[in-house]
Amino acid sequence: MTRTLDGTEISRVMRAEMAQEVAALQAAGVTPGLSVVLVGNNPASQAYVASKTRACEALGMRGQTLTLPEDVSKDELFAVIDRLNNDASVHGILVQLPLPAHLPYKAVLEHIHPAKDVDGFHPVNAGLAFVGDPRAFVPCTPAGIMEMLRREDIPTRGKHVVIVGRSLIVSKPLASLLMAPGPDATVTLTHRHTPDLASFTRQADILIVAVGKQNLITADMVKPGVVVIDVGQNRVPDAGAPRGYRMVGDVDYDALLPIASAITPVPGGVGPMTITMLLANTIQAARQARAQQD
Ligand code: NAD
Repeated sequence: MTRTLDGTEISRVMRAEMAQEVAALQAAGVTPGLSVVLVGNNPASQAYVASKTRACEALGMRGQTLTLPEDVSKDELFAVIDRLNNDASVHGILVQLPLPAHLPYKAVLEHIHPAKDVDGFHPVNAGLAFVGDPRAFVPCTPAGIMEMLRREDIPTRGKHVVIVGRSLIVSKPLASLLMAPGPDATVTLTHRHTPDLASFTRQADILIVAVGKQNLITADMVKPGVVVIDVGQNRVPDAGAPRGYRMVGDVDYDALLPIASAITPVPGGVGPMTITMLLANTIQAARQARAQQD
């Protein structure tokens, strides 16, 4: 019987635990606060940002959105980030991506103070995470996948984990987390130039796919009993759906379901875990800021 890895349910349990942590911090005079900077009016970004700040407020945290016009200059955006960097009530800062093309997104991300970089995209945090330093903010999606594997008692030690995709946001940090002492997995990272992708995916005890292509992974590309973590989020037009589209992942879910031992659905798998880890990182930032004051 294939197990569905229910990210919504794991998140519910984690968020209940975190609400207690927030209450304890509040009792000590600190309300964890996240500020999200949104440039322009991309509807998908607006929806993501709204769900992030709503999730903060549901835990008793402060969630604030600063919306800037599409044509905001780099200097104006930097001034907003400076203000947030210097505001002690703001523990986490997140600039929603993608940014309009005229803004240098790497420089923007590097302008966020590393101690408030709850997305974990600043090179300082990427470096700290790479060397296994507990002060690092680990990017939310890989952190969420690690938490899901842990909470679902899916062993990684000695397992062959094959990751499809090599992004800085998901795959590279995930590879480094999985191969570290503790998780102890053997990791193969594949990407768009990997020849004969199936020859790698068929070896996977745990297959993690973060590409953004519907049905990239088909039934003939996996071995029986594989654990499938589908990170992909693809919009498929669907006139019958409330928003005119539905979300699907990168794997052929229906075909893999009878073959896998466990699989994440899309939606309701990795997605909720990502937001949950953003909340966890913001609480961590508030805790670390408080420890600095003591
Ligand atoms: P990306 O878009 O930066 O890069 C895609 C990667 O896929 C690249 O490394 C590329 O080499 C690889 N690739 C492309 N075609 C391939 C092919 N045919 N075979 C093998 N590899 C191929 O990656 P990303 O930012 O990690 O996003 C990937 C997907 O994950 C997207 O659908 C995105 O929406 C989704 N995502 C979901 C969450 C979540 O919370 N669920 C979070 C982040 C990203």
